[in-house]
Amino acid sequence: MSQKRDYYEVLGVSKNATEAELKKAYRKLAIKYHPDKNPGDKEAEENFKEAAEAYEVLNNAQKRQQYDQFGHAGMGQGGFGGGMNMDDIFSQFGDIFGGAFGGSFGGSSRGSQMARGTNLRVKMKLSLEEIAEGVSKKIKLNKLVNASGVSYKNCQTCGGSGRVTRMAQTFLGAMQTQSACNVCHGSGKFIDKKPAGADSNGLVRKEEIIDLDIPAGVMDGMQLSVTGKGNAGPFDGVPGDLIVVIEEKKHPELRREGENLHYDAVISFIDAVLGSSIEIPTLTGKSKIKIESGTQSGKVFRLRSKGIPQIQGYGKGDMFVHIHVWTPTKLSKEEKSVLEKWKESENFNPKNNPDAKGFFSKMRNMFS
Ligand SMILES: [Zn+2]
Repeated sequence: MSQKRDYYEVLGVSKNATEAELKKAYRKLAIKYHPDKNPGDKEAEENFKEAAEAYEVLNNAQKRQQYDQFGHAGMGQGGFGGGMNMDDIFSQFGDIFGGAFGGSFGGSSRGSQMARGTNLRVKMKLSLEEIAEGVSKKIKLNKLVNASGVSYKNCQTCGGSGRVTRMAQTFLGAMQTQSACNVCHGSGKFIDKKPAGADSNGLVRKEEIIDLDIPAGVMDGMQLSVTGKGNAGPFDGVPGDLIVVIEEKKHPELRREGENLHYDAVISFIDAVLGSSIEIPTLTGKSKIKIESGTQSGKVFRLRSKGIPQIQGYGKGDMFVHIHVWTPTKLSKEEKSVLEKWKESENFNPKNNPDAKGFFSKMRNMFS
């Protein structure tokens, strides 16, 4: 996978750039690398797309927050956030060019303001094991697509451009102004032939199965957006985005806190006294840890890198095993009499063991 450049770096702005600064920076690059100015220049086209992608993310508050928090990984892999084609760019950011290219760039079809499809939201339930590894999922979408056989006719008022030009009187004299056509609301088109079952925009619901690569380390409630995989835009417009909302399934034994995992291991007091080896669950199968003789309740084992990877790909969290010593609640006569026999023994009395207090105050400091 090639290393993607930082979006702020692409636009040459600071991390706390305002909306106006982003727009200004993007506009400058868009004009510099505009295909009309650089015909046939592949590198300019790539730069043009890169700038558009950066602007698309940073200009959207939700995507920007996701990017700030998780970097490119937060945008996902293989298509999240990326994959814009030239038509998307022109239709989404046509306004950015303002007077520089007017409505003339890219041929007549790009002059109109394309209608944008709505976003599609899906929930994705993932196990902790899937989150730890990252996972490829096939998901079934029930989305709006263009009905087959639908055809459009141009709006007569604006001639299909979606815009009307008017002369307006200003203090500078008569000026030409452009605004969205109020008959077709800027789409430039009306439905001509509407197949049975299609809605008023010529769209029908259809099942589509898509593959999604979920990066390792996602969190409950996180939203990943996939550009252009939402509902189709009416009148051959731009499709909306697919928003994937992550839901983490509760693990039967492990608790997650950020990148770390916690497990409560309950051991018998005999094992605590004599020492033992216990089996614990991890996300990659069972693992064994050694309990030394004389282990206290409250002891914590730290298993390095047995937690969840950070979503940006730098390192992994740890797993903490908390030891709890079980005090028996039922004893047979015989068991009771054996223990009674040791009641007065020094070894069983914490008061005679200065280490005991030291251990628990150390534990308190560790977790306060
Ligand atoms: Zn019109």
